[in-house]
Amino acid sequence: MYCTETEVIIIGGGPVGLIIALELDRQGINCLLVNNQLQTAVHPKANAINSRSMEHFRRHGIASKIRSSGLPSDYPTDVTYVTRLTGYELARLSMPSSSEAVKQAKHSNSIYDCSEPPHRCSQIYLEKILYDEVLNRKRIDVRFGHEFEEFNEINGGVTAKIRDLSANTKYNVSAKYLIGADGGRSKVRRQLGIEYEGEGGVLRRMMGGAMQATFFYAERNDQWLKLKESWQYWIITSDLRALLMSVDGRNKFVLLTRIPDSNKANTIDDKDLISRAAGVPVKSKILLRQQWTAGHALIATSYGSNKVWLAGDSAHLFTPTGGLGMNTGIDDGVNLAWKLAAVINGWGGPNLLQSYEKDRRPIGIRNLSFATEFAESIGSFGVSSKIEEDSEAGKVERDKLGYHLINHGQREFLIPGIVLGARYDNSSIIWQDKSLPVPDEPYSYISTARPGSRAPHVWLKDGSAICDHFGTGFTLLKFNSVKSIDRLFFAANKSGVPIKLFDCNENNLKSHYGADLTLVGPDGHVVWRGNKIPNECNSLIDRIRGV
Ligand SMILES: Cc1cc2nc3c(=O)[nH]c(=O)nc-3n(C[C@H](O)[C@H](O)[C@H](O)COP(=O)(O)OP(=O)(O)OC[C@H]3O[C@@H](n4cnc5c(N)ncnc54)[C@H](O)[C@@H]3O)c2cc1C
Repeated sequence: MYCTETEVIIIGGGPVGLIIALELDRQGINCLLVNNQLQTAVHPKANAINSRSMEHFRRHGIASKIRSSGLPSDYPTDVTYVTRLTGYELARLSMPSSSEAVKQAKHSNSIYDCSEPPHRCSQIYLEKILYDEVLNRKRIDVRFGHEFEEFNEINGGVTAKIRDLSANTKYNVSAKYLIGADGGRSKVRRQLGIEYEGEGGVLRRMMGGAMQATFFYAERNDQWLKLKESWQYWIITSDLRALLMSVDGRNKFVLLTRIPDSNKANTIDDKDLISRAAGVPVKSKILLRQQWTAGHALIATSYGSNKVWLAGDSAHLFTPTGGLGMNTGIDDGVNLAWKLAAVINGWGGPNLLQSYEKDRRPIGIRNLSFATEFAESIGSFGVSSKIEEDSEAGKVERDKLGYHLINHGQREFLIPGIVLGARYDNSSIIWQDKSLPVPDEPYSYISTARPGSRAPHVWLKDGSAICDHFGTGFTLLKFNSVKSIDRLFFAANKSGVPIKLFDCNENNLKSHYGADLTLVGPDGHVVWRGNKIPNECNSLIDRIRGV
């Protein structure tokens, strides 16, 4: 007999639904996770887990497990542009392996100004790790093979009608809140009457329009893949645009191609396609083929209200350039989950849940515009038929294109500012100070503890990262001796707001944070900073809890 009551129902067991379940469990909230597939993703969609998502996984103690999946830790994450795999190399963006990036992140002048640099791991492996983790958490009731049909907002809560697909029976579950993490075709969003706005299925030569993903196995050998090991190989000729990605650093690959005519997708010979990309016959075994559509830059007009909220692809649909779709969704989930928990636990105020959309929708719009810019830059240019010619004219074409591609590669793949610089400047739950915002630079991350920003990363003398000391509620970081901090704790305790102190006198911390005291929220974003506890202590606590 299934439970008929829980605190939060999550529809969708993709990466976003899975992280929300973990976050709610961490906050002590019971939830039901419903997914209409029996198993996690089999299609290797996302391959780029960015450093912000990895930092969230670190909080859950699973970052190293994820890092040991996907590309092996010593495998380079280069992005290489070629005419064909056995043809001319046009450009190469050299990128470190996962273990090298971890090493680089230990140095203060690294581009990885974070506790967890990015990792290249396919969604098929990531989801499995998250799934195993949710199964271990006793507050999460996991139901894969169950389909959500509809919800009703009644009696100050919400009831969902769910179908057990194997038994073909229906049952109802009541909860305080329901989250639609049910992907791009979200039934929850449609029942809310919320539409996407923006551009859908813009046509491009690559990454725009009907696309095919072919997941295959092929022994890696010099006959077809002599090139130095890379994570991505872009094949660019006048008759073919494709992206080959290494899934396991060994013999599993995924090939993404633009399908000129989606009605003829079933007639495509995948093996022939792989051989055309290689420029020689390749012995391959097709594991899975799937059609999908690129060219979307869509955002829901609202992220929900009252008892029902949206997160992940149900709230925004990206073209995967820049690897921002899932990662933006994971960050949505983290923002939403602690707020729901706060309201359920009784200390979250009436404005707290509304701040979710105010915080996250502008980030969705921001990241969509970067992803679209990258898609235009890689998908729209024409290629001369001379590109494969062994001639001076061919070399001129290759040099010209190579120049564009190396510039493009740096812009698409070296984006610490986009990843770490996402911030909630206009959030209704932060206490802003008078400092000026730093520029929102996509290609370099400018560390700042201005309220709304992700709390700057610093390694401490014992080798831990400062974020390892953040609690599940708010954390007051104290870098010097400051009087009367008890007043803040008193005000927080009075309102039931969970708060912990991290007292750390290491030399450089104040310079990173720009104040003796900083208050960090449950999602790792700064909500207040100052050199002394403000006189309006109760007002500060009310602000950050959405009163
Ligand atoms: C080729 C490709 C490459 C990509 N690469 C990247 C990348 O490198 N980095 C990145 O960040 N993103 C990438 N993305 C995007 C990424 O895959 C998505 O953003 C991500 O899967 C969204 O996660 P989600 O949990 O919101 O939705 P989904 O992954 O779509 O999960 C939704 C889940 O809900 C279930 N569901 C739907 N309806 C119901 C229902 N009625 N009842 C119960 N369950 C339901 C579905 O079966 C599914 O399991 C890529 C996408 C593609 C296509």
